[in-house]
Amino acid sequence: MSLKDYVEGSKKFDNIQFFKQLKQKNATLNFMREIEQQEGGTGELENVPFVVKDAICTEGVTTSAGSQILKDYEPVFDATVVKRLKEAGAQFYGKTAQDEFGFGTFSTNNAFGTPKNPHDNERVVGGSSGGAGAAVATAEQPIISIGESTGGSITNPAAYNGVVGITPTYGRVSRYGLVDYANSLDKIGVLSKDVYGAAKGLEVIAGHDENDQTTVNCEVPKFSDLEEKQDLKIAVPKQYVELEGLQEGVKENFESSIKKFEEMGAEVEEVDMPLLHKDVAVPAYYVLAMSEASTNLAKMSGMRYGHEADPEKFDDYDEYFSEIRSEGFGEEAKRRILLGTYTRMAGYRDDYYIKAAKVRQKIIDQFKEVFEEYDVIASPSMPNIAPRIEDAEEMAPAEVYAMDTLTVGPNLAGLPMISVPNGKSQGMPTGLHIVGNHFEEEEILDVAQTYQNL
Ligand code: GLN
Repeated sequence: MSLKDYVEGSKKFDNIQFFKQLKQKNATLNFMREIEQQEGGTGELENVPFVVKDAICTEGVTTSAGSQILKDYEPVFDATVVKRLKEAGAQFYGKTAQDEFGFGTFSTNNAFGTPKNPHDNERVVGGSSGGAGAAVATAEQPIISIGESTGGSITNPAAYNGVVGITPTYGRVSRYGLVDYANSLDKIGVLSKDVYGAAKGLEVIAGHDENDQTTVNCEVPKFSDLEEKQDLKIAVPKQYVELEGLQEGVKENFESSIKKFEEMGAEVEEVDMPLLHKDVAVPAYYVLAMSEASTNLAKMSGMRYGHEADPEKFDDYDEYFSEIRSEGFGEEAKRRILLGTYTRMAGYRDDYYIKAAKVRQKIIDQFKEVFEEYDVIASPSMPNIAPRIEDAEEMAPAEVYAMDTLTVGPNLAGLPMISVPNGKSQGMPTGLHIVGNHFEEEEILDVAQTYQNL
């Protein structure tokens, strides 16, 4: 059964059974931090279940962003995306597990335990929206799963869990009610079992919001009216297919996806995009992401946000803040606060933050140039299949960051992208990544649908 069937009128959905199933599977896989079943409403998504990444505010339901410091934070409002889904009648089932504040690639940086991949319980679910991907893969019924990407956090878990994940153009979906990671990069998007589910979810949550000044005030197309594409011109960045560490199975699946496109008449060409090289895009991304993250986290201090202690027990407020933050933040968050503070400090700013911002602009220009000639850009979604949990935990930070090489470029450029399952390698799913020009979500959804139908 597809989400389309539900949306188009099947009211036979058994909510109680669904809740039971989710709970049962979560008991071993730990992909949801908090499960609860709320009343659904009426509307076009009536009866359709949805789950939300933990960093997105849900009224009266704990929103921890995967962090100990926000362990008991209960927002008094719903994020715009949650509000819109509820208004459309969708039914809320809880919060999915993630890396702390989005800092990670495998959901191993989660204060509430590492979730396990439903395809192989010894492997990671990806990150940072790892729980969001695993929830979709686990559920027998189609659901809408709301994720968030700063540098690839929707594509990555979509690929590792064998589901579809769409990251919209920056500014297409309101960030109001998101616990920010890096404001100039964060994008809320949708994971679902099929392209239709991703399209439908996006259609409902997208559009201008007066509470988020960065949302664009333009009409939201009917994304779920999917059309098959013909006469496609597809660019494949040389820097992506030649990436060191690209696993053989991933490469083979990508090549056979490209072949399918060619067989249906698409023109596929390799393009040279030097700034997408691992040694350029990855550092530029991490400098900017960490700089913004370190300022965003300043408010988590035990005053307005963050768990509290008795200030009387401390000599001064510096000592108090320091205690709260030392206890509340995990290792990766601390690393990023330190590095991010450094990169934007007077004396270093020009060499790091400003330089990275310039590289970002050049990356945008490079993408724009390619889109003058090609409809979409294609690549593998991730360089590997989901690694084993113990291997992921042993990786050095720089090794982990390098895993994002295929996703940080389009994320820095604020472009829309979609990951669709394109086969298996060693029994694990792999993904095909399709990146489009700004505000061309329709195009990439149609291309993904075309691929899904091949
Ligand atoms: N892995 C990347 C990071 O740690 C991306 C995560 C994300 O998109 N939230 O920053």
